[in-house]
Amino acid sequence: MSQAEKLSVIGEWTDATNLQKFYINGEWIEPISKEILSVINPATGEELAKVASANAQDAERAIHAARSAFDKGQWRTMSAHERANMLMELAAKIEEHQEELAEIETANNGKTLREAQADVAEAAKTFRYYAGLATKPSGETFETDEPLVSRVVREPIGVCGQIIPWNYPLLMAAWKLAPALAAGNTCILKPSELTPLTAIRLFELIDEIDFPKGVVNLINGTGPDAGQPLVTSSLVDKIAFTGGTVTGKRIMKEAVGNLKKVSLELGGKSPNIIFADADYENALDYAAFAIFNNSGQVCSAGSRLLVERKIYDRFTSDLAEATKKIRVGNGADPSSQMGPVISKQHMEKIERYIAVGKQEKATLLCGGRRLLDQGREYGYFIEPTIFIDVDPQATIAREEIFGPVLCVIPFDTEEEALEIANDSPYGLAAGIFTSNTAKAERMAKYIRAGVTWINTYEQNLVEGPWGGYKESGIGRELGTYGFDEYTEVKQIINTLKVEPTGWFAD
Ligand code: NAD
Repeated sequence: MSQAEKLSVIGEWTDATNLQKFYINGEWIEPISKEILSVINPATGEELAKVASANAQDAERAIHAARSAFDKGQWRTMSAHERANMLMELAAKIEEHQEELAEIETANNGKTLREAQADVAEAAKTFRYYAGLATKPSGETFETDEPLVSRVVREPIGVCGQIIPWNYPLLMAAWKLAPALAAGNTCILKPSELTPLTAIRLFELIDEIDFPKGVVNLINGTGPDAGQPLVTSSLVDKIAFTGGTVTGKRIMKEAVGNLKKVSLELGGKSPNIIFADADYENALDYAAFAIFNNSGQVCSAGSRLLVERKIYDRFTSDLAEATKKIRVGNGADPSSQMGPVISKQHMEKIERYIAVGKQEKATLLCGGRRLLDQGREYGYFIEPTIFIDVDPQATIAREEIFGPVLCVIPFDTEEEALEIANDSPYGLAAGIFTSNTAKAERMAKYIRAGVTWINTYEQNLVEGPWGGYKESGIGRELGTYGFDEYTEVKQIINTLKVEPTGWFAD
């Protein structure tokens, strides 16, 4: 498909009527709110679409639909095989529409087509994985010293409000919906107000499948107007949130009313540690990938690069050379290797951090500017940026910038690397590059992070748990751990001997 043809597909779709509706109780309905969101292409600054923005009443409608589908519908009582078949069907539909979904994602989020295609493939894989898991053995039985049998079963929690960010819009929707639905819950998805488009397209595909009414619902809108009612409602049993740590803390406080279950996937400032004995080319490649992939807007980005002093000068200089060659441009252009950042506001925040880095006397090795030349002047493009000799206590080394800005810190010993790595309020991920396996194991053992990569970075597996220590979150997504987060544990005790206790007999 040519570039022009591709753009026309988006054009036709954004003229479609569902953009200004919500998917509630199995149909696209007109919102109560009259508010409209303007959705912007961050590569051009142009409006891509106008999307309906929910208010509390719209959220209430979605909550009631999901509540009734859970309490009175057949979703949680139908066989896991039937649920799995629908999720398999959805995975197939995502694959069938993968080019279109990737193209919409690129236009809305700015990420390169290559990145968007990988996200779409991973979203389909997530639905397929959880469809499979739904039908696999689960539960436990316990031997007891009484004539009793104790068995444990997992049951759906109920109505789940799912609030997601803008950096992986379709993939985050899949990470939330797939395990929740597989476990028999009903859902209300609230995408980021900046990136609602692929979720709307996903729900058009969901509408083609026979999910019972009210099982899976979509509202769009801002955090305070559309997200908060999900958080505070006593009819919602669980909130699953991915986003910033400040928002996550607020959500945790506001969810306290009915003591709903809360899982939080939050921010990070992950250390990527390069020892002098590492495979040099591999470490160099991953050092750049870990921070500039997705324009640095990745919760687990390797944004603190710790480099052993023996190779520090050579490594940082080679990294700068490689970084200067990264082709930054519109993600829809196949030659672009890094797209814009999500919005003007976010770009300005990143620029402020770059200014703070300079004030803090870190050395700006490369990048540091907004790109304003022809073809990029209306978009939100920031040069891939590297600061070296950064004080581990500096603001830019401690706060999540969430953009293409790398802070490099030298170290001399393993102990020092560990101390710097762990000196952070966050604990999402870490990378260790060394050819010494014992050293890698020691570091992996003592780093306080939910995910640790050895000689690789940012490899994400649907089969394994994902989530953070410390202020990076609560709970885990993906794998069997992610499934368990959407279940209640029930113990059923049965007796082998039916007889009265005789306790009050005398
Ligand atoms: P954000 O916290 O601003 O928003 C996330 C979502 O929360 C959006 O849908 C937003 O509308 C909603 N929201 C905002 N205020 C709310 C409120 N008061 N009540 C209910 N909902 C509310 O985050 P963002 O800027 O969209 O995303 C970037 C952040 O997400 C980064 O910090 C990043 O590290 C984090 N993130 C974490 C992971 C992970 O797996 N740990 C993955 C992706 C992104």
